[in-house]
Amino acid sequence: MTTHETLKKYFGYDTFRNGQQELVDAILAGRDTLGIMPTGAGKSICFQIPALMSSGVTIVVSPLISLMKDQVNALTQLGVAAAYINSSLTERQIDKALQNASNGLYKLIYIAPERLLTAEFLFFAQNAEISMLTVDEAHCISQWGQDFRPSYAKIPEFVENLPKRPLLSAFTATATPRVRSDIVNLLALNEPTVLVAGFDRPNLYFEVKRPKDKLAALSSFLEHRKEHSGIVYCSTRAAVEDVCEHLKLSGYNASRYHAGLSDKERHENQDDFLYDRVQIMVATNAFGMGIDKSNVSFVAHYNMPKDIESYYQEAGRAGRDGEPADCLLLYSGKDVRTNLWLIENSKDVEYSDKETEAALKERERKRLREITSYCKTNDCLRGCILRYFGETASENCENCGNCNADFELTDITVDAKKILSCVVRMKERYGSNMLIDTLRGSKNAKLLRFGLDKLSTYGISEKSESQLRDIINFLILSDYLSKTDGEYPVIRLGVRANEVLRDGAVVTMKLNHEEHATKAQAKKQTVLKNVDSQLLSQLRELRLAIANEQNVPAFVVFHDSTLIDMCMKTPVTRDELLDVSGVGQVKLERYGERFLGVIAEFVGKNGAGEGDLGTPKTFDGSTIEPSAEAVTVTMVADILNCALLESGYTKTTGQRINEWLVSQGYMENIEINGKNHRSPTEEGLNLGISTEECVIRGENVSVNKYNQDAQRLIFVHALGILGVK
Ligand code: ADP
Repeated sequence: MTTHETLKKYFGYDTFRNGQQELVDAILAGRDTLGIMPTGAGKSICFQIPALMSSGVTIVVSPLISLMKDQVNALTQLGVAAAYINSSLTERQIDKALQNASNGLYKLIYIAPERLLTAEFLFFAQNAEISMLTVDEAHCISQWGQDFRPSYAKIPEFVENLPKRPLLSAFTATATPRVRSDIVNLLALNEPTVLVAGFDRPNLYFEVKRPKDKLAALSSFLEHRKEHSGIVYCSTRAAVEDVCEHLKLSGYNASRYHAGLSDKERHENQDDFLYDRVQIMVATNAFGMGIDKSNVSFVAHYNMPKDIESYYQEAGRAGRDGEPADCLLLYSGKDVRTNLWLIENSKDVEYSDKETEAALKERERKRLREITSYCKTNDCLRGCILRYFGETASENCENCGNCNADFELTDITVDAKKILSCVVRMKERYGSNMLIDTLRGSKNAKLLRFGLDKLSTYGISEKSESQLRDIINFLILSDYLSKTDGEYPVIRLGVRANEVLRDGAVVTMKLNHEEHATKAQAKKQTVLKNVDSQLLSQLRELRLAIANEQNVPAFVVFHDSTLIDMCMKTPVTRDELLDVSGVGQVKLERYGERFLGVIAEFVGKNGAGEGDLGTPKTFDGSTIEPSAEAVTVTMVADILNCALLESGYTKTTGQRINEWLVSQGYMENIEINGKNHRSPTEEGLNLGISTEECVIRGENVSVNKYNQDAQRLIFVHALGILGVK
């Protein structure tokens, strides 16, 4: 099978995204690789496809439990056998997973870095055929990255302990050269193919606002997004509580997530968001790394994050499905002070010595200055981000708040001269508040005490406070002024001050006139106009029903973009359904008939098709293709129902199938801890019904699985189970 065929068969996609093909090819050519792609660009497929196409198992080192769980969940849905090993499993479950792995059952195993060197994992790895070791979120190995994790340092030691060095691939969204070279050196990548995919995410609409009342600004942003799912990030737990409360009182279906909540509540709230039971998640940055919820249609930052890397990673959680999505950042000066405090007082990182600490903290302050510039600029926001990541960008992307704002290029030379002269006369000793007060002739007691009212520039400006603040910010960004760091920043002349004061340079600035509705909003409406919203909502209902049956989030069944594509293509046959983006072979088998059923009925009612369901046709259970792997009873019912519905019969349920198996002696009802369970009898075990332990929502539960023989027996007796025969 070619790489394209694998992409289509498993993932249902027709084309690779930017950079994916090159990375897949490099890995398949046996080269170590480093893939640098923005969040949401599609890194996983770059190692999953080679993993599927190679013999042996791919070990994926991943820093977060939730991320592993999501990826394994998604792979299982695609019909790929995968497992994870981390602290959420019991020792028994880990033993079982490793035993399965040793028997060659999995194509991918996700593991937390702390577990690599445990005796049992090492033993497994030393005896297994390992096609590749993939390091996800590879920047965690670098002290210079934003999420340094000391446990990543164990990876090279693990590799050295293997009898044969496997191929290595590493992936990250962090692009700074220092982190990049750390990854290559610390992981000892062997002449790697390094690919930096474009950092642009064209479907994301960026916007920054500097409102006086952030809650009001957030409410008006959400007003237009009542139907959509999104995340609101806050920098502190207290802000999460306040904002969440406010949204709930305003009638939004919101939940919260931060490190101060119990594990149980965090889990539940996260699941509620993933499973679309709540619409908005208000959270600190503890939420989201590894959250691959594809239908997040906005990410609003209530506070400015600490750097552009973090911002782009968090904002990048919007629009993973490729649909237009909005990223709003609400800025205030207080955000800068909070972040400076966090840099000074953070207990998260242990520094090797004082010198490194000083250097790293200065680095963090520099990053903070850069995101502050992003929040203050009137230039293209996308351009600002892309240039930060070392890419070239056009002056105007026409898809961000600044490019769409009603700016007018205004000559501000006179204002600039007044401000710069005032700074000189204030002997470069005061902050921006005092500067503004002096320019506006305020009677502020402190100002009078310092004698600033005696300066010739006192009361020289007629501009409003906020206009002056904007102009001063602009003069700082353009190096006409500078601002010192620290708790009480002071405004001084910048390196270009003399261009204005002496050389008579003309200074122009974009000034905002009016706020405009976001372009993404308009685009979203166009997308929805082209599809029938009634059909879309019926498909969404079906997706939700399937997701509930399977206990997985709705987007794991199909992305929104896939449902939208179904609405546009209205497929009638299985082949046509395969043409829909996001429908691969396994999902076609599992869900195809049910989705085709809804579409056929809709098309029928609307006059375009036959809609010939209803009269029972002949039914032959032996022709139904069972799933190759052992599956749950819900899945057996799913496969069976597709055939039953096609032949005009009503559906059955997992419950009814199990009752029938009990009546036939293959299963029995037993009581454990006061609860009723169904367990295979000896005869059931012989037939191919097995019981597996697994963890669902933190609880150990036993799940019965039915192999091909058991499925066949059920299919052949389907009409009997329905009570028709
Ligand atoms: P990352 O790890 O880079 O943040 P993911 O690997 O989670 O991103 O992918 C983001 C989303 O993009 C996923 O929902 C994935 O299914 C989708 N995706 C990846 N590659 C493609 C592709 N070639 N075509 C369409 N969708 C894709």
